[in-house]
Order: sequence, then structure tokens, then C-alpha cells
Amino acid sequence: MASKNYLLTPELASYVQSISLREPEILQRLRQETQTIREGKMQISPELGQFMRLMVSLTKAKNILELGVFTGYSTLSLALAIPDDGQILACDVSETWTNIARKYWQEAGVEHKINLRLSPALGTLKDLTNNTNRPIFDFIFLDADKPNYLRYYTYCIDLLKPNGLLLIDNTLWEFKVNDPEYKDSTTQTIRTLNDQIHKDERVDVSILLFCDGLTLLRKR
Ligand code: SAH
Ligand code: CA
Repeated sequence: MASKNYLLTPELASYVQSISLREPEILQRLRQETQTIREGKMQISPELGQFMRLMVSLTKAKNILELGVFTGYSTLSLALAIPDDGQILACDVSETWTNIARKYWQEAGVEHKINLRLSPALGTLKDLTNNTNRPIFDFIFLDADKPNYLRYYTYCIDLLKPNGLLLIDNTLWEFKVNDPEYKDSTTQTIRTLNDQIHKDERVDVSILLFCDGLTLLRKR
């Protein structure tokens, strides 16, 4: 489940949601539509969407990079929080899923803030790095294909402005990272990334216990 919280009992999770969640009606509808498709569980939780809106308004972020759009819940959350002249470069490979996203972005009147790049994110990151000789984003949300997480991390840190925020989703990987029984390559990649981040002196870090683990980083 998208909103599954691995740490709280279902009762407590539902109580926390009932006293904290303020989900705009359009996000509610996007969530409902997404939950009707088979891959619906990939959607971020509404609590995470709300947390990102708060982070964006706190940091006054305007230039955002997002890797992993799916049906656009996180993109729309971010787009609702940035000012009218803010921009999100949103990367995904699926036309089918992002067509659902586009419908809601249009309805919310935020599509002018979103530049959708339908192409493997690694290529986009390489192009961005080659075409600019300076960091350009003040906020990055990483939630694309997990096997590439280590590679994405390297590019993201380079493309992030000093004091910029990087949020990486699913860094506890359903708690497999903590269980040596899991030796599959995706789990190993996330484990290695977590170790690397811990030692990385270019960033301040905190792991937040949203559903599947969210690593919050500030570039120094
Ligand atoms: N943030 C989304 C969930 C993302 S799910 C939300 O709020 O709902 C992960 C997404 O990564 C999927 O939509 C998938 O199409 C995309 N993805 C997979 N491989 C990719 C790649 N190589 N480059 C960019 N996106 C990719
Ligand atoms: Ca995710």
C-alpha cells in the first residue's frame, strides 16, 4: 500500500493521519484514481506530499528537479507550493502514467510550472551536468527507479545549489536494507547509498520515518 507505514500500528497511523492531514481536494481525487490502477502502491503517501509542500514553502524553493513522476502526485504537491514563476523539471519514462498526471496538472492550473521530460532520467541528468557549469536546483525529489539510485545521487548533489534540499524516497526499502538475508542488487544499492550518504561530508542528513524511509539532505 502507498500509505503503509512500517513503524506505526494501522490504528496509530490512521489517528496521525486524522489529526494532521490536509489534502487539497484535487490531490484526493488524483490519489483515488491512482489507487484504481495496478501499480497504485508506487504513489507517495499524502503525508509525504504535505511534508514536501511544507519544505518547499519553508525553503522558498523555486527551481525543482523531480525524478519519478508516475501519475503526478508528488509533482502536483510541489507545483501547488512553489510561486507562479517557479519551475519543476519532472522526469519519467511512462507516457501512460504521466498522461494521468497531465490531466490533473491542467485542472489545477499549474501545468505552466511543470516541464515534463519523458526520457530515462540518467540521460537528462548527464545533459544537465554537461550543459551547466554550476548547480541549478534548490530542491530535488528523487523517487525514480531504485537500481540507479547511486548514480542519481552523484548527479543530484552536483546539480544542487549550496543550502539546497535533496529528498530521497524509499531509503529503508521495506526494511530489507536492515536485514542481511536480502542480497538482491536493488537492496544492496540502497544499502550502499545509505552508507555513502552517512560518510558524505558535503551534506547534512536526517532519515525521516515516513512509510518506507525518506532521507532528507541539505547540501553544505
Ligand atoms: N513520485 C511518484 C511515484 C514515482 S514511482 C508519485 O508521487 O506518485 C517511480 C517512477 O519512476 C515510475 O513512474 C517510473 O515510470 C519511473 N521510472 C522508472 N525508470 C525510470 C527512468 N529510467 N527514468 C525516469 N523515470 C523512471
Ligand atoms: Ca517512492
